[in-house]
Amino acid sequence: MSSQNRRQYIAGNWKMNLSLAEAKELAGALGNEIGQNEQVDVAVCPASVYITEIAKVLSGTKIAVGAQNMYFEDNGAYTGEISGAMVKDAGCSCVILGHSERRHVLGESDELINKKVLKALSDGIEVILCVGELLSERQANETLEVVTRQIKTGLEGVDLVAAGNVTIAYEPVWAIGTGETATPAQAQEVHKSIRDLLAKIYNEYLAGSMRIQYGGSVKPGNAAELLGQDDVDGALVGGAALKAADFVAIVQAVTS
Ligand code: PEP
Repeated sequence: MSSQNRRQYIAGNWKMNLSLAEAKELAGALGNEIGQNEQVDVAVCPASVYITEIAKVLSGTKIAVGAQNMYFEDNGAYTGEISGAMVKDAGCSCVILGHSERRHVLGESDELINKKVLKALSDGIEVILCVGELLSERQANETLEVVTRQIKTGLEGVDLVAAGNVTIAYEPVWAIGTGETATPAQAQEVHKSIRDLLAKIYNEYLAGSMRIQYGGSVKPGNAAELLGQDDVDGALVGGAALKAADFVAIVQAVTS
C-alpha cells in the first residue's frame, strides 16, 4: 500500500500539566519557531480550561489546538464533562479520544470511546483515536488482538467519509511516560497491521490515506528513526511536548 502522500502529523498532549502562564509561554515559543511550518501538520492539546487562551496565542499560526477529551452528549447534567460544541467554541479542531490514561486510569470502555468518536465526527471535530496494548498483553502475544478490538469497536458506525477525519495513534501503554520506546521495527509491525485492518474495514485507498501516529516516549533522539518507518505518519507526544525545544526538534525531525 503506497503512502499516498500522507502528511506527517505531530500532536502534543500536554495532559494535566503546566500553569496558564507556562502554557501560554510554551504556545508562544512554538508559534514563533514552527508556527508557519507548511510541511508537517502540528497540533497541541492543552488542559481544557486553557484551550481558549492557547487558541488565542496560536491564532495566525498553522498550529491547531485540540482537546484531550470530550463527552458524547450535547448538553445536560453531566458534571465535569465538556461537549463537542464547547470544544469547538473554545477553538479546537481536533480531540484526542481513547487515550490510555482515560482507558486505564479513568475506566473508559471501547463502547464509551466509540460514542465519543461518533459524536466528535458528527460535530465536525477531527479525532485522534488512541489504541495500544498493556505490557502484560504484549507479553501474552495479544497486541494485535487488543489493537484490533479497540479499532473495530472505536470505529463502529464511522462511515467512509467520516473516517477520513480520523487519525489512529498507536501507543503501547508500556511505552507511555516510561522512557521505554517501541523499537522502530516493533512500531512499524503494528502500524502495518493497523493499516491492513483499516483496509478490511474500509478499503485500501482510504487505509492508504489515513494517518497512524506512534506514541510512547517519543523524543528528539528517537523521533527521526520512528518517523522514518513506512507506516508511521507522525507522533503523539506527551512528556517531550512540554518543552518547546524538544517538541520543535521532533517536528523538525520530520523534515530532516
Ligand atoms: C502520551 O501521553 O500520549 C504519550 C505518548 O506520552 P509520552 O510521550 O510521555 O510517553
